[in-house]
Amino acid sequence: MASDNKFMVRTRTPFLGFPGISKDDFDYGVYATEDIEIAEIVVRLSGNWIVEPSRTSIQIGERHLESSTGGYVNHHCDPNCVVLCNLVDLTLTERLVPIDVKIKGSLTSMMISNPKPVLVAIKPILKDEEITFDYNTTESNLANPFKCNCHGNWIRGKAHRFQE
Ligand SMILES: [Zn+2]
Repeated sequence: MASDNKFMVRTRTPFLGFPGISKDDFDYGVYATEDIEIAEIVVRLSGNWIVEPSRTSIQIGERHLESSTGGYVNHHCDPNCVVLCNLVDLTLTERLVPIDVKIKGSLTSMMISNPKPVLVAIKPILKDEEITFDYNTTESNLANPFKCNCHGNWIRGKAHRFQE
């Protein structure tokens, strides 16, 4: 398995170092550093599980993952990645499953008690393209709702899917 990451976190526009402008004022994003094929695992999300969602956390089932890289992945309504969980089944085969599978049962819950969330490409991604996923597919309630850049819809989370 290749261990080299095919992404980097960087600002969307170059940081020019003007006086009075800090790096915090710039939008960050995660960008492909080489071409990525469809169905490839792009980012293995790791970090701390927290109870309440934050501005940068990613909801996995009923938990929220504060991931250093994941926190920089921006929303897109027509994204090139999707968040899935990677789990090892009884035959030690890695399987990608939806994040909201609610399977009960001893063996299965043991297997998915330590889910390894990953960003998986659902489109071919070219080098220098921004890595995105749809926040409405993971979050029930966004801690910081916002209007998306593509068509100005409010992105609030799954709980608000059928509202305007
Ligand atoms: Zn949009």
